[in-house]
Amino acid sequence: MAKLYFYYASMNAGKSTNLLQADFNYRERGMATMLFTAAVDDRFAAGTIASRIGLSAPATMFDSGTDLAACALARHVETPLACVLVDEAQFLTAAQVDQLAALADRVGIPVLAYGLRTDFRGALFEGSARLLALADSLVEIKSVCECGRKATMNLRVDAEGRPVAEGRQTEIGGNDRYVALCRRHFSAALQAKA
Ligand SMILES: [Zn+2]
Repeated sequence: MAKLYFYYASMNAGKSTNLLQADFNYRERGMATMLFTAAVDDRFAAGTIASRIGLSAPATMFDSGTDLAACALARHVETPLACVLVDEAQFLTAAQVDQLAALADRVGIPVLAYGLRTDFRGALFEGSARLLALADSLVEIKSVCECGRKATMNLRVDAEGRPVAEGRQTEIGGNDRYVALCRRHFSAALQAKA
């Protein structure tokens, strides 16, 4: 039975690198895949998943109105898909996660979703909350705080590197606007600001 996987992490843990490696492993064996990434993320060229270590691959953009399952099915009819991979999965709506679960359950295509667990305030993203609820398999991609503990939180900083406690959830200013920290240092940074 095809599964829905959620690979979750903090910023800069290597989610895109992991996704591109998984994609490569399928394609190396002659299997077709389909990649999605969020249209809100304009750090890189439109319709591209790029990792910080230099890998990249073309991807179909999604926004909150995209029917990802319908897009994948249209492709699947032409070329049977072995796997669907979704980057920036925190930006999925709950309904879109439901679509992806149905794609795995009814069509039998495995779905690998990669995303942040929480936003810069430590709250779940809508897509991440639904994925945590529905995924068959939860896999944490680990990264490290400056103190050596596991980094689980994403501190947003301004252009001068000062912690930011308020603002829109989906404001994306690039990797340098976020610092992955352990919970202790995330809380300390926000308290020092207050
Ligand atoms: Zn720390």
